[in-house]
Amino acid sequence: MSGRADSPQQAPVYPWLEAPWRSLLGARLGARLSHALLISGAGGLGKRALAQRLGQALLCARPGPGGEACHSCPACHLFQAGTHPDFVLVEPAEPGKAILVDQVRTLCAELALKSHGGRYKVAVLQPAERMNLAAANSLLKTLEEPTDNTVLILVAEQPSQLPATVRSRCQTIAVRPPEPALAQKWLTKRLPSGSDSALLLRLARGGPLRALEMAERDLVAQRQRRLEEFQAVHSGRSDPLALAADWARDAELEPLYWVQDWIQDMIRICTNGQRLAASGSQEAKVLERMAESIDCQQLFVRLDQVSEALRLSATGVNRQLMLEDLLLAWAPAP
Ligand SMILES: [Zn+2]
Repeated sequence: MSGRADSPQQAPVYPWLEAPWRSLLGARLGARLSHALLISGAGGLGKRALAQRLGQALLCARPGPGGEACHSCPACHLFQAGTHPDFVLVEPAEPGKAILVDQVRTLCAELALKSHGGRYKVAVLQPAERMNLAAANSLLKTLEEPTDNTVLILVAEQPSQLPATVRSRCQTIAVRPPEPALAQKWLTKRLPSGSDSALLLRLARGGPLRALEMAERDLVAQRQRRLEEFQAVHSGRSDPLALAADWARDAELEPLYWVQDWIQDMIRICTNGQRLAASGSQEAKVLERMAESIDCQQLFVRLDQVSEALRLSATGVNRQLMLEDLLLAWAPAP
């Protein structure tokens, strides 16, 4: 299967996703597939590809004996063209925004109709934790009283942010990061020679696809620059409000995730004097310097602050004001 993994026409199964993929196919063949699935796991593991692949397999008119899509029937062609009428994808209108109640209502109405192809109706909702409360409530009824042959696939990086009422009605498929050796082997094949795949994987928290994206978008250099800006605010050399305005323009709020990493690393440094995995790197040097000047208890408070900001960022909060609050706390007292 890995030989076909990079075909642009189909969602790949990455080697580390073989196990969850096999268990999904097994559930399908044994007619044990839940009508609501929650695919959870860190970013950059291919959860969306897994959801897509399952969707195609369910809609395929001539699935193989293992339950895999054939990739050649009319249903597969429609799916691959993104126009299968029994497949619905629900995402925020813009990256970083919430999934709104109207989007979920439209989805539920669509799922209540009979399938066009006489098979399943499949919906993928991603990232599911971006549903606001009204949207999640609206989904509950469909989860409680599913229509026949509908499969709803929620994809979530932070499933704990979903209401428990939604989570409890889904069968969870937890996707875990691959062993570092496997991830590094996969990544090294796809990067220009001389790339530091170990560092990329560490920065991507073990997610190989995320690591690849970081390499392609040169995010390592960007992250280093962001850390220098962050340190400049901390040492009083730079204006936190100006930096907040700049960071708020990042659609994915990447700097906020990085601040979360940095605080966690500083906590490691100051609680047990632990050396960082990439000690000796420019990033580790800056963080060791910053950690010396902050009280450890304060770092835990700041970490909570960032988690709360990340939670709020899905709710349509004013991002610039949120970042201003956060960065002002890091600036020296006047
Ligand atoms: Zn097919």
